[in-house]
Amino acid sequence: MRQSKFFMPTLKEAPADAVAESHKLMIRGGYIRQVTAGVYAYLPLGYRVLRKAERIMEEEMDKINVPEMLMPHFLPASLWEESGRLPKYGPEMFRLKDRHDRESLLGPTHEETFTEIIAKNLKSYKQMPISLYQIQTKFRDENRPRFGLLRGREFIMLDAYSFASTREQLDQQFDDEKQAFKNIFRRAGVDVRPVIADSGTMGGKNSTEFQAPAAIGEDTIATNEKGTYAANLEMAQSIDTFKQEPEDPKELNKVATTGMDSIEKLAEFLHVPATRIVKSILFIADDQKVLVLIRGDKEINEVKLGHILDADEVRAATPEELIEITGSAKGAVGPINADWADKIIADETVRNLYNFVVGANETDYQFENANLDRDFKVDEFADIRTANEGEPDPVDQLPLQFTTSIEVGHIFKLGTYYTTTMGADFLDQNGKTQPVIMGSYGIGVTRMLSAAVEQHLTENGIAWPREIAPFTVHLIQMKMKDETQTNLAEKLEKELSAKYDVLYDDRNVRPGVKFNDADLVGAPIRITIGRDASENIVEVKQPTDDKATKISVEELEAYIA
Ligand code: ATP
Ligand code: MG
Ligand code: MG
Ligand code: MG
Repeated sequence: MRQSKFFMPTLKEAPADAVAESHKLMIRGGYIRQVTAGVYAYLPLGYRVLRKAERIMEEEMDKINVPEMLMPHFLPASLWEESGRLPKYGPEMFRLKDRHDRESLLGPTHEETFTEIIAKNLKSYKQMPISLYQIQTKFRDENRPRFGLLRGREFIMLDAYSFASTREQLDQQFDDEKQAFKNIFRRAGVDVRPVIADSGTMGGKNSTEFQAPAAIGEDTIATNEKGTYAANLEMAQSIDTFKQEPEDPKELNKVATTGMDSIEKLAEFLHVPATRIVKSILFIADDQKVLVLIRGDKEINEVKLGHILDADEVRAATPEELIEITGSAKGAVGPINADWADKIIADETVRNLYNFVVGANETDYQFENANLDRDFKVDEFADIRTANEGEPDPVDQLPLQFTTSIEVGHIFKLGTYYTTTMGADFLDQNGKTQPVIMGSYGIGVTRMLSAAVEQHLTENGIAWPREIAPFTVHLIQMKMKDETQTNLAEKLEKELSAKYDVLYDDRNVRPGVKFNDADLVGAPIRITIGRDASENIVEVKQPTDDKATKISVEELEAYIA
């Protein structure tokens, strides 16, 4: 590709509202342009990266024998009424009406759509196990779209769905998808940790998130020193940044349960400034209690505040009010669809984590109703552990480390929730009708690209992981009027293009401009053709190298490979 013909509108400065480095660089490099809040155009450079990521995904799904298909974006609300999710999904859903006044929506995820197809087209255990996937645009009217592709209102997701006749089949499908996802992230150069997660509006008890550690991440994961335990600590989004020193946490023991409908009231209730409330978790501990944890100072990685609210009060609140209380759309799901939550609490490791988080085992102070073993009835529940890698650690092997990170993928053992509500049955070996057992698996494709950038920043640009780099080789000719340089550049362009994606900077602009742009293209291999062209010598540089190195043209092939 000739750069003179390529459309790559680079900018010196990122827009003022861009906070995330990946957002800044993708705008500055001409990868993306915002069309409206949280909605982006993928310019040629960005689209190349996107297509490469999609191709990796296609290959890895092929390897586990999962066929690709494509669902519509435009969906009838009736599908979601059938599953019972329509009232739960809340304001994140883009809803619309057609000319006949029929309620419709733009798909934020496609469990219902896939289940419906299976319900109508799969009859026998002989047709299972089967999985399907698509790579498709999703629509979510996020409360705060931000950080470029990290949190969009329109974004691209790979979503796979598995259908099984036995629990064992589901386990196998889950493991296959998990392995495929790991391969995808590895090939895309995104460092991820699988962690225990909240299942949100999805339902199902068993889910694993793939978390990519990065400073800009909106999630916080807790991992132990040995790496045998990892969980998404917060199941909510950041409300505000932590600005002031915490007050004496002992004070919190004194406050009583109260009705709350805003962050301000919650703050008042806890005797803390509203700015203190950075993160919260809301879930049902047992029939009576709802638990709200407020995370404190990020710097010292400690949780200072915690309190138990009355479940009935929280239940009485509308989802919108709950979102306000907790800062989390998922928080709102707690009281409605809480089956998963008490089970999580019943898990010993999570319980230990919780006790650690609220300081229940500390000697100098203790929160009321904070110690789960002491204050709550706890059931055994082993299933959640299968979402984790390895065995959980006993409490004495804490402490845990907290890391901010980006949720790039999320996989669920859904069980029979959708298939039961939507009538996806099959006839088993004995001719008996059974509900299909389901799983779902999602990667935020566009978010993953931002995560890759966040994890591969250089001082002036991006060091793209090779498999998703927009171009593998960036050929830069210093002086366009130099015939020797032109001859060598054209020769190399031709030869290398047979094997690699080559961008040839043939523009008649100053070398400084070319190098600045090259930092933003972030190709793994940069070849500069300058004065030494007459001796068949070029300069090579990788984005993470401090300086370029001279090598002969003969050595190039080995260097690139
Ligand atoms: P988040 O907690 O960040 O809001 P989610 O849990 O709501 O994400 P899922 O429903 O699990 O998201 O969707 C599967 C994947 O889609 C996520 O793991 C994430 O990578 C991606 N994703 C979700 N929301 C967005 C968004 N607004 N913009 C970009 N990618 C997203
Ligand atoms: Mg979300
Ligand atoms: Mg999430
Ligand atoms: Mg998720």
